[in-house]
Amino acid sequence: MKSIHDMEFLKEKINQLKESGLYKEVVTLEGPNESECIINGKKVINLSSNNYLGFSNHPRLKKAAIEAVEKYGAGAGAVRPIVGNMRIHDELEELLAKFKREEAVLVFQSGFNCNAGTIQAVTEDGDLIISDELNHASIIDGARLSKAKKTTFKHSDMEDLERILKENKNKHNRMLIITDGVFSMDGDIAKLPQIVELAEKYGAMTYVDDAHSSGVLGESGRGTVDYFDLHGRVDFTIGTLSKAIGVVGGYVAGKKVTIDWLINRGRPFLFSTALPPAAVGACIEAINMLMESTEYTDRLWNNAKYFKGKLGKLGFNTGQSETPITPIIIGDESKAKEFSNRLFEKGVFVSPIVFPTVPKGTGRVRCMVTAGHSYEQLDKVVNIMEEVGKEMNII
Ligand SMILES: *Cc1c(COP(=O)(O)O)cnc(C)c1O
Repeated sequence: MKSIHDMEFLKEKINQLKESGLYKEVVTLEGPNESECIINGKKVINLSSNNYLGFSNHPRLKKAAIEAVEKYGAGAGAVRPIVGNMRIHDELEELLAKFKREEAVLVFQSGFNCNAGTIQAVTEDGDLIISDELNHASIIDGARLSKAKKTTFKHSDMEDLERILKENKNKHNRMLIITDGVFSMDGDIAKLPQIVELAEKYGAMTYVDDAHSSGVLGESGRGTVDYFDLHGRVDFTIGTLSKAIGVVGGYVAGKKVTIDWLINRGRPFLFSTALPPAAVGACIEAINMLMESTEYTDRLWNNAKYFKGKLGKLGFNTGQSETPITPIIIGDESKAKEFSNRLFEKGVFVSPIVFPTVPKGTGRVRCMVTAGHSYEQLDKVVNIMEEVGKEMNII
């Protein structure tokens, strides 16, 4: 007898995913996330992490994490508005506000939580959310939680954005334009100066998710607002502490009144326990390191330019990337996976990215160059990619 507990409906869906080459499996690291690491028992060069600056296993961050544990314990013990808000959380927010050159900052448990909490809190019935069609899943989910109407504009298409703004100008209480700062799957940078200009022309608010630009773009990684010198003209700047900063967490930077409102209405802030002291301590150290020196971001960009130059010469299609995110676009999902598998056999880990993370038919491997890679490692990767790329008729 078939039972409801057999989950037959999920087995069927999984089989469909497998047939179309869209089924994902998770790999396991033995040890820290570094430029070279042991994945599924094999030593490989790691080209898939978001650990842009090599901070996730940095001695200074680890020391700060341990000190925070000694002082504050392993866990925060409550949600922040009850009794989980420790001095160390306040310190991180004050430091981030200074770093971002904004009035105030509120930290959430992750970038995902930050989007889920912020978008719904600052929009309501009668508003319109206008979102770039390639925005991150957490923005899409955040918008879904809002009672506002939603629409998308074509990716980085300013004519399409203006058309929407013009058509909707007097039909809504407020409009909010949301964009990724750097698009995570293609590595292109949002046209923020034009977005801000259009927003000002039509009286809309702006919201930038700098997850992939925090620690990457702008002076010492201050993000796209700093990169384009738009301080004071973007209403909500989201950052993550989980990527270049090397730990975990997310934050929104903006006006003090925005932060005061989110303390009262940001649901993940209200209903999910505060970040643990170890994570907060390590984040503080990372931001201090960025404020002390541009050494880390300089090294990241050097490596990215070096690697992309070499891949381009070989004839790989690296798309529209302007940042260390370097996609190699292959198209067919199964072929992208096969490319990744063969690279892994030869000692390079670069994970395939397929639908639904990217549109169907744009399967790719996404190379994440970091400050932690040596030229020697990058040369080795390029040689292996050339060999496998030729074998598979990709180049
Ligand atoms: C990764 C990412 C997030 C999620 O950040 P976490 O801190 O990992 O939850 C949010 N937005 C964008 C654009 C991202 O790339």
